[in-house]
Amino acid sequence: MQIATQGLVLRETEYKDADKILTVLTREGGKRTVRARGCRRRGSRLTAAAQLLVWSDMTLFEYRDRYTLNEADALDQFLGVRSDLDRLALASYFAEVTEAAAEEGRPDGALLSLILNSLYALDRLKKPLPLVKAAFELKLLCITGYEPLVDACAVCGTPEPEQPRLSLGEGVIHCAACRVGRGISLPLDASALAAMRHIVLGNPKRLFSFELEKESLRLLSDACQAFLLTQMDRGFRTLDFYRRLSVPDTPTQTGEGQHAQKGK
Ligand SMILES: [Zn+2]
Repeated sequence: MQIATQGLVLRETEYKDADKILTVLTREGGKRTVRARGCRRRGSRLTAAAQLLVWSDMTLFEYRDRYTLNEADALDQFLGVRSDLDRLALASYFAEVTEAAAEEGRPDGALLSLILNSLYALDRLKKPLPLVKAAFELKLLCITGYEPLVDACAVCGTPEPEQPRLSLGEGVIHCAACRVGRGISLPLDASALAAMRHIVLGNPKRLFSFELEKESLRLLSDACQAFLLTQMDRGFRTLDFYRRLSVPDTPTQTGEGQHAQKGK
């Protein structure tokens, strides 16, 4: 059976002499494992499309639940991302997280839009990378069923918590003085909390339309990353690599990248 769709390559693995096995996020069927025969041969029509982070029109051939890439026409290669190591590392992290969140055979338009918009932001918008990263992480959690409750303190109910914190395990905000469970909470400030609300509750088309001062952005960035790692309960090789690039003078952290609780 022939399937016409569009897809973004989330992972590529060389296979045999000239093939690749691709993990593709398709519009029609969510995550698919697709074999691209001969794509590493010189002059193959599939070469451009059969690369990590390329968005293409694709014709797949399905036989007994196995998919082969018959034809492909690259629509966007995100060349601005490819030409910058920090951006490429961050985009690779987005791909790894998306692969972990996506389900085989289940289309998810919101997840596909999120990663395409995030790649577009890295490629063409002049936004700080930590801002794009935090918005991607938090929105992905909302889409996959881990939306945090950000409207008010989960304990006392005040809409503007004093010294707000995000509880990583519970997925709620609270005042510093209002304790939630025994898990770790990370500090926010009023601006970082406003940004979280923008990401969680705002129009997805305006996901990256906010600005933060440096310290507020650092708080947002730390909280969103730790929240994602806690909720997904795993680490990401690509995140470890990105962090080694972006903070060369900080000792590298392996493992889960979990931050210790600060200020309590
Ligand atoms: Zn409170």
